[in-house]
Amino acid sequence: MAQKLFLLPGDGIGTEIMAEVEKIIAWLNSQGETEFEIDTGLAGGAAYDAHGVAVTEEDVQKALAADAVIFGAVGGPKWDSVPYEHRPEAALLRLRKELAVFANLRPAICYPALADASALKRELIEGLDILIVRELTGGVYFGEPKEITDLGNGQKRAIDTQVYETYEIDRIARVAFDLARTRGNKVHSADKKNVMKSGVLWDEVVRGVAKDYPDVTFEHILADNCAMQLVRNPRQFDVIVTDNLFGDILSDTAAMLTGSLGMLPSASLGAPDPATGKRKAFYEPVHGSAPDIAGKGIANPIAMIASFAMALRYSFGMVTLADRLENAIAAVLADGLRTGDIAQDNRRTVGTEEMGAAILKRL
Ligand code: ATP
Ligand code: MG
Repeated sequence: MAQKLFLLPGDGIGTEIMAEVEKIIAWLNSQGETEFEIDTGLAGGAAYDAHGVAVTEEDVQKALAADAVIFGAVGGPKWDSVPYEHRPEAALLRLRKELAVFANLRPAICYPALADASALKRELIEGLDILIVRELTGGVYFGEPKEITDLGNGQKRAIDTQVYETYEIDRIARVAFDLARTRGNKVHSADKKNVMKSGVLWDEVVRGVAKDYPDVTFEHILADNCAMQLVRNPRQFDVIVTDNLFGDILSDTAAMLTGSLGMLPSASLGAPDPATGKRKAFYEPVHGSAPDIAGKGIANPIAMIASFAMALRYSFGMVTLADRLENAIAAVLADGLRTGDIAQDNRRTVGTEEMGAAILKRL
């Protein structure tokens, strides 16, 4: 049966890098390796220009009906003054909420060819393969009360509230342990249970889940120590599971160990459907729409292509094909091909299409 992909290229370089993914999909379909049915919608500024909203109801429904959503990037200076509720980023928030994708997966992989682009020494970074599993729909970004109160004496009070319930921690922990089994079999859970009640509950629940995975090594780590260890000795980690706030910071830290923003994919997964076992899923590069280089044909398509590889792996169980695509990326880098963002001195740089074509050729 054909599997439904819903593509939302978005704005800026989003459309340029998505075009390279579309070529890969077309080739895979033509070879009979996959039977993807493609539909494409508008998101962000592109949707605002066409329909006056960041994403239409019709496209939200298509995202909900798809087996996976592949998202480019949204935003840009052109839409700086659109009404707040229609700003391009509203499309992302709306889709994440509708799809209820609570588990954000952010790999940090060091390609051997790029080990010298890291801020860390090659010895510390070579072979690095970390997966940060961040809780995405709860915690301090969403908890109530969330407000600024005028105290009337020239003072104000700001409140954000960290709220987690058992089920939210339980389900994200299970995602992390399940994934660890497919990788290095080790989970670190990062919280601040020494100073936060939500950290105490986080640890209690994750420890409970760990009992169901006796084959997976489990370690607790304080989030601040985790940040330090990521920079001191990152290869000690396999999977790190953490809350929304710490995950935001730790995933950016881990990501930048590897060099460039243009290399980093992500996946966001929802709960398994009770009937089919399939999770709603949303795949996007970590970087934004890069208005400064949009339209020039020089964006690095690797984060977008690697996000599609994550879709093959996590939504469709096409593990071998995902491996092949990731190996093709590594091989092209080993061949010396570089887009401008990852170029080292005295190397010839290639554009978006040339990089995409080289990866497809390797595949
Ligand atoms: P957002 O608010 O959407 O996260 P941002 O302001 O953090 O966006 P990005 O759009 O991610 O920024 O871009 C940050 C910088 O990295 C820019 O200089 C951009 O050109 C560069 N950049 C981002 N993605 C790529 C890419 N795929 N290829 C080349 N350069 C990139
Ligand atoms: Mg940013």
